[in-house]
Amino acid sequence: MLVTEMLKLAPSAEQAESLLATIRACNAAANRAAEVAFEHRTANKIAVQKLVYGELRAEFGLSAQMAILAVHKACGAYKRDKSTKPVFRPDGAIAYDQRILSWKGRDRVSILTLGGRIIVPVVYQGRWATALADRIRGQADLVYRDGMFFLAVVIDVPEPPQGDEPDSWLGVDLGIVNIATDSTGETHSGKGVRAVRRRNARLRARLQAKGTKSAKRLLKKRRRKEARFARDVNHVISKHLVGKAKGTRQGIALEDLEGIRDRVTVTKAQRADLHSWGFHQLRAFIAYKAAIAGVTVRLVDPRDTSRTCHRCGHCDKRNRPTRDDFLCVRCGFAGPADHNAAINIGRRAAVMQPYAA
Ligand SMILES: [Zn+2]
Repeated sequence: MLVTEMLKLAPSAEQAESLLATIRACNAAANRAAEVAFEHRTANKIAVQKLVYGELRAEFGLSAQMAILAVHKACGAYKRDKSTKPVFRPDGAIAYDQRILSWKGRDRVSILTLGGRIIVPVVYQGRWATALADRIRGQADLVYRDGMFFLAVVIDVPEPPQGDEPDSWLGVDLGIVNIATDSTGETHSGKGVRAVRRRNARLRARLQAKGTKSAKRLLKKRRRKEARFARDVNHVISKHLVGKAKGTRQGIALEDLEGIRDRVTVTKAQRADLHSWGFHQLRAFIAYKAAIAGVTVRLVDPRDTSRTCHRCGHCDKRNRPTRDDFLCVRCGFAGPADHNAAINIGRRAAVMQPYAA
């Protein structure tokens, strides 16, 4: 399974200058290649390369491989949308492959720039990259953001060993009030996340009303900070759930996330939360941490997990008097709705074939 991690680079001032110049040259070259692709109405890499390769090398000072990657970038973008000419930001991320980027041990990377190769220290930020440095693939994106340089690297996370089917499952219900509730009843509240989000939304509204350049910059910074915060929370929750499943020798059962948005009755504001809050990210974190820990994850059919009574099996819409509460109209069982759902999810994993591969 391939996952992406952002690793922070620590270039010297001189190296930073060199990296930025390279990013700008590559994007300028990609823009030129995009012009040619658009003029000739072709997304064919070989055709565009023939037309523009020499010019890219001479005009922008690119190495052979960088010129080719600039053509790939242009053709890829044009292929996705042929109605307009692709335009790349001057500081946009650029792709590196094994030929022009290589690892020197665990904490240094050799990167080709306009002025030749430089060896840049890597400050690991990715919590999983540290453990799996030898599994980082040679390909990476060089990203320039807020005055800092990052490598978005692809890590090959081992799949869990086949054949050892766990005999019990920790069911996990993902929600809004509680980000995650497991079948033992333990909850991870989304309270802190929602508070930050709301505070930021208010600030955003004020800044947007201002509309100045500095306000826009501040907005961008806020958005990133919020995303980082959500990511951290997802890391904490996923780590905890995987650790718990491993410690109790259970598999983890999750709903197929595509079902969540349809299933949950939510207000408009909460719906926005659902989309922006990274459920997909949380699932991905659980999936790859579980893979590393050798914990099996099974996705189950989400239908009716929230309206079925785990005690007597009665399925009824009326079992949910409120969004948060469960009250079985047949046997009278009462409890938190997400805990009941988590139990159902865990059980479903035990009796069902995998819902999705
Ligand atoms: Zn019941």
